[in-house]
Formats: sequence, structure tokens, C-alpha cells
Amino acid sequence: MDDAQRVAAGYRPLSEADLPRYLAGLPGMADRLGGPPAGWTVREVGDGNLNLVFIVKGPAGGVAVKQALPYVRLVGESWPLPLSRAHYEQMALAEQARLVPGRTPAIRHYDERLALIVMELLEPHVIMRRGMIAGTRYPAFAAEIADFMARTLYFTSDLALTAAAKKDRVGAFAGNHALCKITEDLIFTDPYRVAANNRWTSPELDDIAAAFREDLDLHVAVSRLKLKFLSAAEAMLHGDLHTGSIMVTEAETRVIDPEFAFYGPMGFDIGAVIANLLLNYLSQPGHETEPGGRRAYQRWVLDTVGEVWSRFRDDFLALWRANPTGDAYPPDLFQGMAGAARLEEERQAFMDRLWRDTVGFAAAKMIRRILGLAHNLDLESIPDRRLKAAAETAALGMARTMMVETERFPSVDAILARAEAAGASVRA
Ligand code: ADP
Ligand code: MG
Repeated sequence: MDDAQRVAAGYRPLSEADLPRYLAGLPGMADRLGGPPAGWTVREVGDGNLNLVFIVKGPAGGVAVKQALPYVRLVGESWPLPLSRAHYEQMALAEQARLVPGRTPAIRHYDERLALIVMELLEPHVIMRRGMIAGTRYPAFAAEIADFMARTLYFTSDLALTAAAKKDRVGAFAGNHALCKITEDLIFTDPYRVAANNRWTSPELDDIAAAFREDLDLHVAVSRLKLKFLSAAEAMLHGDLHTGSIMVTEAETRVIDPEFAFYGPMGFDIGAVIANLLLNYLSQPGHETEPGGRRAYQRWVLDTVGEVWSRFRDDFLALWRANPTGDAYPPDLFQGMAGAARLEEERQAFMDRLWRDTVGFAAAKMIRRILGLAHNLDLESIPDRRLKAAAETAALGMARTMMVETERFPSVDAILARAEAAGASVRA
């Protein structure tokens, strides 16, 4: 069914006034919320770029209701976007819940016709980006996000699945290409050319933006990454795993909003997490209320970057050793002590290649947030314009090196050292 048919088949965006009656008609929902629907409160909270999100609360409990709109909310009806993204989001949420129980909001109901998902209300969780701007530490985060990525990426890869199962799953997500196209344009193309959607801190960053549009080494590097994003169906990705898609308490991490899910290169998800932590790190001087007041917090952010990668690496390797159920690396080819040793060496080499991809994709994510359409609040909310431009300039310089000279970052420690140097330049 194409989108025109979906709309014809009865799609309509719900309003705050519509929701209680709609929810009361769903099995079990009235009991979950409690009391009569007239007593339920409804609040539209969609601070995101694309969809409607309502929080509905009754005396017994609450739910979050997310509905796709047939266009990009941030831009308006002039930029159509398929409602089918709700289908892919609920499919990804279901798959993630199966692979990593409790790390995503539970689905309470899915309405294909309305492109609407009723899900568990996450409370008192906050969007991690906002918490990090406020300087809050999340001690559970590194281990929990590493585990989430290791499980979702490992168990949907050819290391764990048979070729037939893997290809069926790739097919199941292949129709989400309109969302992939957003990434292909906004992350891998527009920041490097003149595009109506681009914006940056001007005039401070005018020169560097112009240099990026002329920089052929950079254009080759980002095009290699784009080719990988287009062609490497390595595993089911979340597809938009930034700190705005993570809700946290100090004790717990939850991952929301997988509407960009598809089978792509693993490093794209890991790079998204690392890029957003690095941008937050560089933004911190801009959020200080006293000189140096966020230095200790910055240390925590960098430690977290190191921990995310090292835990991910250990977790993924452990899953591989324990669950070699996929069609890749046939056991017949790695028999005996010598075979086992060689396979272990190869696992390490695989992780090294994945690290290089991660560095490149992280760089692409950093650049798009500074020169492209969608910026991030960590940098946008810096009140002092000079500090904001300094943080952005430092991030762009670091990201360019990460993308073009990736071999200079053989380990996560090299990234941390480079981030510290970039951070020092923001304070200078
Ligand atoms: P979009 O895809 O439009 O960006 P998101 O899925 O990111 O929408 O949701 C937008 C906002 O709604 C989130 O930033 C968060 O504040 C809130 N939200 C989304 N899902 C939930 C949930 N399950 N529980 C509580 N709040 C939620
Ligand atoms: Mg979204």
C-alpha cells in the first residue's frame, strides 16, 4: 500500500481532544489509565523534528502516543514523508525488545491505519541530551548502551543469523528508504555543498564552511562513508542513535525513536553515540556558570566515551564467541587449536575495522550538526556566541581529521587525547 492509499484508507492526525476517546476504545487501555476518559490529561510534547507525541495520564497510569505525520514536522507540508515510518519504528521496537529486554519503551498498541504507536510512558526519565547540558552524570549509561548496541548489532548480523533469515530481515526493512534518504542527504551530502537546508554560525564559521565545500580529501572520505551506509547491510541499526533518542535516569537507560531503522553498517550507530558525547564535551565550557565549573563533568564525558567503546568491544566479542550461529566464518574452516587461535585473531581484526568505521561515522555526525540542517541543543543553547563558535570550530577540526586521517586514531584513547586538545582550544 502506498502512502496515498494509506491516507485514503482512513489516516487522520489525532488531536489532544480526540485521544481519550480513541484510547478508551483500545482493549485494556481504560484499565491501564484508570477512571473515566474525561479525567485523563493529554499533552502534546513532540519536541522532535518529525512526529506528534502525546503524553496521556490517568489516575492509574500513563502512556505515550506517537503518531507519524505525512510530512516533516520541522519543515512543514512542503516536505512529504511516508507514514510507513511508524511501521518500521514499531517493528524495530519489537525486535530491540526481543534482543535487549527492557531497554526500549514497551509497545501497548500499534495502529497501522493511523501510523500510531501507543507505548510505555517513560517517567521520570529525561532526554539524555538535556540532562548532559545540565551537567548530570549517568553512571549506568555506558554499560547499558554498550550492551544495547552489542546485542542489537550482533544478533541481527551474519555472525549470528543464517543467510536466509538475514536476507528476510534486510527485506523487511528495505522499504524504509525515505528515512534513509534523509540521512544520505543531510549527513553525507549537504554539509559539503551549497544546500538550502544548511546553516551555521555566521560569519564566524563562514570560512571553514567554505573550505569544507572545496575540500576534495574530505569529499572522498565522506563519499566512502556514504557508499558504506548505502550498501553495507551488516546489521539492524537504530539509525538515529543520538543523545536525543536516549531517555535516562541516573539508574537506567532507555532507547526511543528507531524510525530510521534499517540494515546498515554497524559503525553508524556506535559513531552516533560517540559523536554526540564528543559534541557535548566540547560544548561544556559554554555552559559553565563559573570558570572551570564543568571540568570535572567533561572528564566524566570523556571517560564515558572510552567506556562505551571498550565495553561494546568486549560485549560484542563475548557474544560472538558464545553464539557463532551465523553463516559467516564456517566452523569447518577454523578447526583445531590453530583454527581457534586464527579465528580469535580475526575477531580482533573485525573489531579494529569496526572501530575505523565508527570514527568515520562519528565525524560525519559531528559535522552535520554544525554545518547542516539539524543542529543540536548542546551547542545551540550556548549563550556566549564566541564560545559557541569556538566549540563548533574545534569540533569541525577534530571531525575532519577523524574522517580524512582515520588511521591517526587506532584506539579510543587517541580520540580522547584529540578531544582534550580540541577542548583546550575552546577554553583558550
Ligand atoms: P521524533 O521522532 O518526532 O523526534 P521522538 O520519538 O524522539 O519523536 O519523541 C519526541 C519526544 O517525546 C521525546 O524527545 C520525548 O521527550 C518524548 N517521548 C517520546 N517517547 C516517549 C516515551 N515513551 N515516554 C516519555 N516521553 C516520550
Ligand atoms: Mg525521530
